[in-house]
Amino acid sequence: MNATTPTNPWGIPDHLRQFEPSQAAALARLRRVQPAAYARTRNALDGAVTGLSPYFTHGMLSLADAARSINVQSTALGRAPLGFDDKLVFEFGWREFFHHVWQHAANQGDAILRDMHSSPPWPGKYADTVPDDIRQGRTGVPAIDSTVRTLYATGYLHNHTRMWLASYMVHVRKVHWRAGADWLYGHLLDGDLPSNHLSWQWVAGTLSGKPYLFNADNVLKFAPATARKAWASPHTVLDTSYEDLEDRAQSKAGAGPERGAHAGVEEPALAGTNDAASHESFVLLRQAIQAPFAIETIANKHLELVHPWALSPRRAESHDNLFRLGIIHLPAHAHWPWSARRWQFVLQAMADVTDAVWIGDLGSLDLSGCARATTQATQFPGYREALGRVATLSPAPRLLPKLPTPCRSFSKFYQQVQRDVDAFADLL
Ligand SMILES: Cc1cc2nc3c(=O)[nH]c(=O)nc-3n(C[C@H](O)[C@H](O)[C@H](O)COP(=O)(O)OP(=O)(O)OC[C@H]3O[C@@H](n4cnc5c(N)ncnc54)[C@H](O)[C@@H]3O)c2cc1C
Repeated sequence: MNATTPTNPWGIPDHLRQFEPSQAAALARLRRVQPAAYARTRNALDGAVTGLSPYFTHGMLSLADAARSINVQSTALGRAPLGFDDKLVFEFGWREFFHHVWQHAANQGDAILRDMHSSPPWPGKYADTVPDDIRQGRTGVPAIDSTVRTLYATGYLHNHTRMWLASYMVHVRKVHWRAGADWLYGHLLDGDLPSNHLSWQWVAGTLSGKPYLFNADNVLKFAPATARKAWASPHTVLDTSYEDLEDRAQSKAGAGPERGAHAGVEEPALAGTNDAASHESFVLLRQAIQAPFAIETIANKHLELVHPWALSPRRAESHDNLFRLGIIHLPAHAHWPWSARRWQFVLQAMADVTDAVWIGDLGSLDLSGCARATTQATQFPGYREALGRVATLSPAPRLLPKLPTPCRSFSKFYQQVQRDVDAFADLL
């Protein structure tokens, strides 16, 4: 498909428009990774980014396996192996940092869902809902409308467009970061609570103390060369200086949509489990994918519970008595609904790596007949508690060593990690 056909007026590279829910697809992406090109171009919307985030989020691939595989490839091609100075490793580090903060915050009750560190730049009350013109991609600011439309069309956003969307929402429109974060989370295939909510906080200024601001020049610099028009935002609220944006971020004056009529797009429904309509679409998806599961099939088995953040393939050395049961714990999804696209991605990937998929309230699943039950730990609210009650937990895979004390600054976190190990290769 040509990158500028009418269905893709935004110039989004093809590999960032569709995400096959399989490990084979993740491995194919890994083979295309070029660390040097990544470092040079990752900030551009058509730069050499990997599109690996949906696979990392759902545990279909670990950061360590990815780094190992890239190194094997580099050796074969005569390139240097990855090190701490590589931009890609640095970005992997950001993901691990956010999970580190989550791990420590979880002990204090999901603190990442509230202001972490400092106050936002303006002390007033931000709106607690996302305005309709943003949800429908009709703000009249091309950088924002194209971002929202890309999100709905693909389930993926480039890092820069996430930053633009969050900054516009919080600092220009005065919407609370939590409302924006909750909304975006449900539409992303890679929606990851710590990466998403802490990034929103970083943009809002409540994580590091400094808000992220951007203007129309910044958009032009990073827009795809083939589709500048779809992004360029001259004569809009963004067409201004950084001093002006800073004043705006610190003042009460929020802007509305641009003047004039703008046609919108329909927001895809988010399906949780707490209302009949969303439940109906969820049940349809479930019927399309799930084979019937009978509790007798797990009698005397070693049961491995496979939840949505641990969708790794069955290990080659696993024994015959192992039964891998996919788990969708419905109560947890009432608060964190997903798009149909994401349900499809997760349920398909889960069905592929398990012997059966079970959907319901974990509190009602009787596991007394099986020999033992194990699962990978997750901090995800609802799953964290429910899995802990029925199974023995093993730690989720990580790339960087675990720091025993909380660290809320990324640079300190990354420095500390490097002090603790001699070379990046030692971690693989
Ligand atoms: C407002 C906002 C919301 C975000 N929400 C999410 C989210 O829900 N899930 C998510 O995985 N990431 C999120 N990010 C971080 C980042 O935008 C995505 O990880 C990245 O764009 C995913 O695309 P990629 O795999 O092509 O990234 P690449 O640039 O190819 O990077 C490779 C991997 O490094 C990690 N990474 C790269 N950049 C970041 C970053 N800034 N922070 C943390 N990890 C990073 C990711 O695991 C990514 O898959 C968010 C960022 C912002 C500003």
